[in-house]
Amino acid sequence: MQRKDDLKLYIGGGYVAAQSGQTFETVDPAHNAPICNVHLAGKADVDAAVGSARQGFEVWSRMTGAARGRVLQKAADLLRAHRDELARLETLDAGKPLSETPEADVDSGADCLEYFAGLASKLGGEYQEVDDAFFYTRREPLGVCAGIGAWNYPLQIICWKAAPALAAGNAMVFKPAELTPLSAPRMAELMTEAGLPDGVLNVVQGFAETGQALVNHPGVAKVSLTGEAETGKVVASEAARSSLKHVTMELGGKSPLLVFDDADLDNAVSGAMLGNFATQGEVCTNCTRVFVHADVVDDFLDRLVKRTQAIKLGDPSDPSVQMGPLISREHQKVVLDYIETGKREGANLLVGGGVPEASELADGNYVLPTIFDRCTDEMTIVREEIFGPVMSVLTFRDEDEVLKRANDTRYGLASGVFTRDLNRAHRCARELQSGICWVNHYNVTPIEMTFGGAKQSGLGRENGRQAIEYYSQLKSVFVATGDCEAPF
Ligand code: NDP
Repeated sequence: MQRKDDLKLYIGGGYVAAQSGQTFETVDPAHNAPICNVHLAGKADVDAAVGSARQGFEVWSRMTGAARGRVLQKAADLLRAHRDELARLETLDAGKPLSETPEADVDSGADCLEYFAGLASKLGGEYQEVDDAFFYTRREPLGVCAGIGAWNYPLQIICWKAAPALAAGNAMVFKPAELTPLSAPRMAELMTEAGLPDGVLNVVQGFAETGQALVNHPGVAKVSLTGEAETGKVVASEAARSSLKHVTMELGGKSPLLVFDDADLDNAVSGAMLGNFATQGEVCTNCTRVFVHADVVDDFLDRLVKRTQAIKLGDPSDPSVQMGPLISREHQKVVLDYIETGKREGANLLVGGGVPEASELADGNYVLPTIFDRCTDEMTIVREEIFGPVMSVLTFRDEDEVLKRANDTRYGLASGVFTRDLNRAHRCARELQSGICWVNHYNVTPIEMTFGGAKQSGLGRENGRQAIEYYSQLKSVFVATGDCEAPF
């Protein structure tokens, strides 16, 4: 679907052209056909967006929490009213199947706006008496926050960042990944329609340089990034060096799934598939290291292989399709190279391992759902984040042994345990070094539950009540009820 017009920047409640007049082309991952040209934000545009956000902040931060909540609730309603349009936009832009995007992207974004709409009126501080005085705390917004997104959940990511930031009274300038520019400005438009004052949510488009201009901007108080761990290190250090900004970092992972010999195996297979093949495997929390107890591994693999071979891969706009293309040709090549490395290093290829044969899929960036077994802990495919549909299966015999191996990674985003033993489930949840642990399920992210990573998978948390803490700061106000007792 070629858009007629160029996609401009969304600043101050409307679309504006990039000051340099420069644009870049965005393409559809299913066909690599152009969708439209996108205005490229340079430093001057970032300055304008931050300036506009500052003006928006002056209005928005002085509104009551209840009034802010009403705008966010209206925006949630508008997202739901535009569910089909937004789901199709996301499918076109990110290649995510239409069988997923209405629920996983649009509903998830709307739920998030609704949740923080409710919280906006409930943010308070504490009051305490001390000696001849008392103090209270105020929870205050930070100012202008920068949001920088990855390309796998473009709409969800802007919602997950903007909703808590705005609920707390901040304004935001958001930069989507350059590969997926379409849904964020549409979401900002709907926020304007919901009554958001101009400038409170702005969208600038561009590459890493645009992100860098935001991260280094003196008018920005906080940076919230979703991206790779290496990008996170650069962004966090630049944010600190420029003006000691607050940061939230949602970064990569290489998460373990533990399947014990007492597990419901069909359910464990469902968990492993959810955690490797949904969204073509382009999910940060994915359990790409599946540790299966040696006594049940053959049975587990039989069931897993049959169900994986039945996955329908194809054009993501066909609602019966379960897996679409990867985001870009470059990324397809990265994932295929990892598969070759897996073969070379001696992993046993059970399913997939290349591109589909169907000629009508040749223009898209497809990779077959792929499973390797007989993997070992040192293999490259077991150690590095692939961000594609490539599952590594390893075996174990002993709980202590598997916990040690599962934790032997620089990442700590998520983990999962399948067992019918309640004690073991809680023991594993305690011992696994990760920000999230799913028990007998995988990759479900209700908005009420905090989300974020341990170790090099991140800093700070999104979602849940705690997300507000990362978009606000406390001020203590001390009030005397008697005179000062000055020693001079
Ligand atoms: P990248 O780290 O390449 O990019 C993320 C965003 O940062 C993009 O908008 C990118 O711009 C921008 N960027 C890159 N370099 C800089 C810089 N120096 N300063 C400021 N901005 C910069 O990640 P991907 O987009 O490739 O996304 C995949 C990664 O994201 C995976 O590692 C995945 O695990 C992680 N992720 C983590 C999630 C979580 O919640 N923990 C959720 C989803 C993904 P541009 O697009 O132009 O390169």
